[in-house]
Amino acid sequence: MRRITFNSDHEQFRDSVRKFMQAEVEPHVERWHAEGMVDRELFLKAGANGLLCTWADEQYGGLGIDDFRFEQIIMEENARHGDLGFYIHLHSDLVAPYVAKLGNDEQKARLMPGIISGEKILAVAMTEPGTGSDLAGMKSRAEDKGDYWLLNGSKTYISNGILADVVVVAARTDPDSKHGLGLFLVERGMEGFERGRKLKKMGLKAQDTAELFFNDVKVPKANVLGEPTQGFKYLARFLAQERLVAAIIFQATAQTAFDITLDYVKERKAFGQPIGTFQNSRFKMAEMKAELDAMQCYIDQSVLLLNAGELTSEDAAAAKLLTSELEARVVDACVQLHGGAGYMEEYRICRMYQDARISRIFGGTSEIMKEIIGRSLGLDDRKLRK
Ligand SMILES: Cc1cc2nc3c(=O)[nH]c(=O)nc-3n(C[C@H](O)[C@H](O)[C@H](O)COP(=O)(O)OP(=O)(O)OC[C@H]3O[C@@H](n4cnc5c(N)ncnc54)[C@H](O)[C@@H]3O)c2cc1C
Repeated sequence: MRRITFNSDHEQFRDSVRKFMQAEVEPHVERWHAEGMVDRELFLKAGANGLLCTWADEQYGGLGIDDFRFEQIIMEENARHGDLGFYIHLHSDLVAPYVAKLGNDEQKARLMPGIISGEKILAVAMTEPGTGSDLAGMKSRAEDKGDYWLLNGSKTYISNGILADVVVVAARTDPDSKHGLGLFLVERGMEGFERGRKLKKMGLKAQDTAELFFNDVKVPKANVLGEPTQGFKYLARFLAQERLVAAIIFQATAQTAFDITLDYVKERKAFGQPIGTFQNSRFKMAEMKAELDAMQCYIDQSVLLLNAGELTSEDAAAAKLLTSELEARVVDACVQLHGGAGYMEEYRICRMYQDARISRIFGGTSEIMKEIIGRSLGLDDRKLRK
């Protein structure tokens, strides 16, 4: 289906992003999968090509483009021609906004140029060994010591955990309040900041997901983002964009799985005919196409709503919920249509199946997305019970 939310500027940009992914990512994917992470130079190359934080202010070296469709295009082309382990979206669309939107002038002047050029790779650390969905159970602690904050605790499953130069770390600042949380900019080289294992995962093999440890890290006051007790409010502010980012990628992945499978079922023959011409295959492909087209409309509309500042967290939760479930159904059906080849790692669909399993879990599980949507309907048990 033709997508009508993009104009010729977007299409030109898409061509250049595709060329970048084909030249700078595709040829290295095998090595990065084996090594468990991408080269840090990839971020520098993306920066040099204007692909990091297209929205950022020109005064810091950004392009100042106030249109999220350009970021959408980068994510879609990375899903199709790059690699899902290259977390360009985490850098540009999930973490950099914390610095750009919550940071003061000094922090922005100090950090944004390196973030936009790719010299400073970003990560965000919320999840802990004991808590993920329920962030109010966070144990990491930051104490105000006058000149600095003393940070202690550990985080796990942190994306870009090995490569990151700056990590936005959430830690409890008020022991008496469940919601007294601060966001701290912890930088490479700070004493007491250590990285643990690069975790072995089912999929996303080129993504350096890691444990991080903070042992008496003295975080300068200049590295606190906003008010040190307002972390929860800040996290909530970015949730709609974060979940839309996830949805854009899941949708693009599902569409790519569909497209490569369409080629496959036209080529592969059984019983003297292309397998795609069996009625079962044709119906499967038809069902998937219909669902993908409908979902794409929802995503494209959500991007326009985000541009207009009108995307709600329920809208975005629905996008994340439905695209992750659709992606799961599509990659599963596509493996089936590939037959035994679908189980072989040399076929891309096999990796897509492995990569997709996490989509219903990270960035808020499907169950949490349903909670958010359900509560927006006035079905909050804590309120209704009163
Ligand atoms: C590859 C990968 C990358 C990640 N990257 C990052 C990162 O960069 N930064 C970061 O901070 N975190 C990251 N995470 C963590 C991720 O966001 C969490 O794993 C996720 O939010 C789920 O939390 P959990 O693992 O603690 O699961 P739990 O919260 O323990 O959930 C376990 C199960 O219980 C269910 N459950 C929990 N609460 C409820 C409820 N109220 N109602 C119904 N069911 C419920 C869940 O839906 C789930 O099925 C990453 C995780 C992975 C695997």
